[in-house]
Amino acid sequence: MEKIQELFINGEWVKPSSEEYLTKYNPSTGEIYGKFAAASRDDADRIIDAAYDAQKKWEKLTSVERSKYLYKLIDLIRQDRESLEELLMDEVGKPKREAVQEVDGVLDQLQFYAEFARKINGDVVEGTKSERIIYQYKVPYGVVLAITPWNFPAAMVARKIGPALITGNTVVVKPSSDTPFTAGWIVEKARQAGFPPGTINLITGKGSVVGDYLTSHKKVSVITLTGESKTGQQVMKSSSSIMAKLILELGGKAPFIVWKDADLELAAKVLMWAKYWNAGQSCIAAERLYIHEDVYDKFLNLFLEKTKTLKIGDPRNSDMGPLINNQAVNKVSGFVENAISQGAKVIYGGGKPELSDRLSKGFFYMPTIITDVKQNMEIFREEIFGPVIGAMKVSDDFNEVIELANDSDYGLASYLFTKDLSLAMKASREIKFGELYINMPGPEASQGYHTGFRLSGQAGENSKYGIEEYVKVKNIYIDYSKDPTKDEVIPPYT
Ligand code: NAD
Repeated sequence: MEKIQELFINGEWVKPSSEEYLTKYNPSTGEIYGKFAAASRDDADRIIDAAYDAQKKWEKLTSVERSKYLYKLIDLIRQDRESLEELLMDEVGKPKREAVQEVDGVLDQLQFYAEFARKINGDVVEGTKSERIIYQYKVPYGVVLAITPWNFPAAMVARKIGPALITGNTVVVKPSSDTPFTAGWIVEKARQAGFPPGTINLITGKGSVVGDYLTSHKKVSVITLTGESKTGQQVMKSSSSIMAKLILELGGKAPFIVWKDADLELAAKVLMWAKYWNAGQSCIAAERLYIHEDVYDKFLNLFLEKTKTLKIGDPRNSDMGPLINNQAVNKVSGFVENAISQGAKVIYGGGKPELSDRLSKGFFYMPTIITDVKQNMEIFREEIFGPVIGAMKVSDDFNEVIELANDSDYGLASYLFTKDLSLAMKASREIKFGELYINMPGPEASQGYHTGFRLSGQAGENSKYGIEEYVKVKNIYIDYSKDPTKDEVIPPYT
């Protein structure tokens, strides 16, 4: 039976006032997966009002009290995790192993935020005169609008609702129209966990109707968006009238440097993950391969041989699934064609794979390796977001490779493979990226701060720094002396 998902407002699943629904397709088969509500602006008002009203009570709880709801949510997700894994396989086309990893990530993050409840502390500082004191309280902002992408649709919801709720904000989750059901699954678990009505809400629908409306709504105080850099720019513009606090986790174009002394087998294994994880649809995916000239042929060959063994197809029985939709396939193949027209060479892949009839309408693209890439080609400048990688040979000048890596509009993740400690430390100092993985794969940890330089965003998520993004510091000045009028700034009037 076809699935239908409504809006979740003030603790209840309700039909959209427009009575309109949008269609979600299964990316592996191209068949209809289900329909989900298309909210109207009236619905957007209702949902934000619900979150706004609920926040007044929610912030009065202590963070330890709030954490009890999060622990309950964690229990419920753990008990039913297989159904979330199934959903990730159907809605995104993730291979089983990756679906399992994503659910592990959801639980790990929620656990991290719940455990942080006892660590959200302010400061008490001295005043400028004796018998004066300043309390610096960390207080919630109010309503958080959490706009999530489709590529890690469960982990991104967890990463936003965890810190928002534990710090006393309420949340309106706005998932991508490519993954409304995963967000709905988590919100339903939150309902079962007994979160008070209005603390967590779900809105789905057309960006043209509710996009700007939500991001310029006066009752929204924080917008946390994970998405493309151009979406971040649009949200910056549309939210300027409300001066919302922005947490923007945007696109990436990770350099992957293989130096001459690298453990090539390790580097090739990590690259298999860094490139083909989620079919290359990851913000920390390796997108620019810089290989030292001495090991160029050997490394590329190693990576090519490994790539040939990748099994593509049905998420329940493959190493790599489909792209999210047909536009993604067209976009990725456009990048490949353009690279060829600019003089690069495809040494593997470069088109759709041959698959069984059942998958013939799916949105698959071959793992693709491109050589003879130059720094200024589009394939090295724009985010590909697919299983395609370009490679460039670099000389023995480490300064130059750092410059090449830094020469990008994006600055999220980067990778370096070398056994030379002094080069590793030099890269740590000079690389201008939020993350550098040295001789290891990602992804980012709950206790690490996930943040991007340049067009990869501003503010960040995870770790104590990520939690701090959801609180404001309020200052209370107190004079507790017997003569509080002693201050010379008070005029001597009677
Ligand atoms: P997207 O920008 O198309 O959409 C992201 C979300 O924003 C969706 O919910 C979408 O409906 C919404 N949206 C789009 N335009 C909007 C507008 N004008 N106003 C309000 N909401 C709007 O991105 P996507 O295709 O879903 O995700 C892929 C992108 O996300 C890639 O660029 C990837 O690198 C990035 N990403 C970044 C991180 C990170 O941590 N930095 C993590 C995952 C994905």
